[in-house]
Amino acid sequence: MRERHVVIVGAGFSGTALAINLLRDASAPLCIHLIDREQIARGVAYARRPFPYLLNVPAGRMSASAADPDEFLRFARRRLPHASASDFLPRELYGDDLSVTLADAERGAADAVRLERLYGSVIALERPARSATRRVHLADGRAIEADEVVLALGNPPPADLAATAALEGSARYVADPWATPPQLRSGETVLILGSGLTMADVVVAGAGGARGPVTFHALSRRGLLPPAQSAFVAAVSAASAAPLLRAAATSMRELMVAARELARDTEARGGDWREAIAVLRSQAPQLWQLLGDAERRRFLRHVRAYWDVHRHRLPEGNWSQLHEMRRAGALTLHAGRLVHLERAGRRVRALYRPRGAAATTALVVDRVINCTGPDYDVRRSSERLLRSLIAQGTASADALGVGLATDAHGALIGRDGRTANDVFYLGPLLRAAHWETTAVAELREYAAQLAQHLLDTPRARPLRAVMSRHVHAHAAP
Ligand SMILES: Cc1cc2nc3c(=O)[nH]c(=O)nc-3n(C[C@H](O)[C@H](O)[C@H](O)COP(=O)(O)OP(=O)(O)OC[C@H]3O[C@@H](n4cnc5c(N)ncnc54)[C@H](O)[C@@H]3O)c2cc1C
Repeated sequence: MRERHVVIVGAGFSGTALAINLLRDASAPLCIHLIDREQIARGVAYARRPFPYLLNVPAGRMSASAADPDEFLRFARRRLPHASASDFLPRELYGDDLSVTLADAERGAADAVRLERLYGSVIALERPARSATRRVHLADGRAIEADEVVLALGNPPPADLAATAALEGSARYVADPWATPPQLRSGETVLILGSGLTMADVVVAGAGGARGPVTFHALSRRGLLPPAQSAFVAAVSAASAAPLLRAAATSMRELMVAARELARDTEARGGDWREAIAVLRSQAPQLWQLLGDAERRRFLRHVRAYWDVHRHRLPEGNWSQLHEMRRAGALTLHAGRLVHLERAGRRVRALYRPRGAAATTALVVDRVINCTGPDYDVRRSSERLLRSLIAQGTASADALGVGLATDAHGALIGRDGRTANDVFYLGPLLRAAHWETTAVAELREYAAQLAQHLLDTPRARPLRAVMSRHVHAHAAP
């Protein structure tokens, strides 16, 4: 039987989890090419970094496999014997676990199933004339023939903000703190754009790494800080989900009423409002599909900011630190909209319009960091591969500009509405079809489903040699 070639572009959590599933479940001849331009089995979230960032989710809910929910905790206890399911452990440790789990899956795979790790940047996919396979092009000239390609490209960088244009290219402006981690100096005043989880990471790491006091200002439309995680137990039942599903079939407004009622009832029973968020998350794909475009637009305009702030929560320790900093005047939250940044000698003047005010207010700071979070509108993407696929018509944005248009299995839907049966997407841009697709809890399910789909649909393709120009694994950078 001819060996099948599946190319996975991106080896963060999503690409790695897919590879692990394929290695575990495949038996027919299969070569999985797992490609990343940086590290394998880490991605942006679980990369090795100088600061020990913590997971935002307790260890007991971070397993890469829903079928084995304690897998990460078992791994963590080999290094930290007292770790418990409710602990917020270092993100780097999670990357270590993913690497080990991938290596274990590779060792345990059937004889005919193999994994190739490659380092490099994928820039384009091409279907040569009369070819049944796709050619995957890397920036350094290598190419791989693939029966199926899975794009696991991760979270897009934050949006380019028109208001920051005057500071573009300046060391005083950090456009993406994960791509260019800011080095803060003692005595600096820093303006953070955004007040969500990235802001929290940057403030906690900046305060810890500056060897002296740093003063932070965080500016966002509503000036809301994420709440703390808690040790609640997520219990999702058909009874708790049913009213939400009924409401979503009517309107966004009804869904809001039902969600508030669920949170109130939960608290009235002595529970935690976070349980209601867990129920909503578990039903998110169905709710999103029931809403339809017009009601989804209402959600995006009026509800999304409140959903995000309740849905994305902070480890208790980070939350307490931020509140302590606010009390001490080291962190100030501002609700408003950035109007523009301008140079003020060696510093930066930020003009913003406070929420509800007509006049602007100025803040003079040493540095500005864009922590507004991923820009999911792929029509604005600067990612070379995505731009090329969109230009080709193979990939397209969804109608609301919140992700990529995909079918139920994650296959790309092109400009002409046709589904590519051999190019799939896995990761946060699935939100266009399912809404909640950012965290491990959801992505592991999609990774398992896509692996199953690929293995259940063998390629009925003409036998042809798999040509691979100069394909070889480079040493890890
Ligand atoms: C800082 C941060 C912390 C987070 N913490 C948590 C958490 O504690 N718990 C949780 O559940 N979720 C967390 N998340 C959510 C996160 O989205 C998922 O957990 C998960 O890491 C997403 O994985 P991914 O593989 O889809 O994306 P990524 O991790 O971004 O991986 C994508 C990979 O693709 C590679 N790549 C992209 N384009 C190309 C290309 N053209 N060629 C080659 N390689 C390419 C990149 O180098 C990258 O390694 C966090 C996210 C971030 C950003």
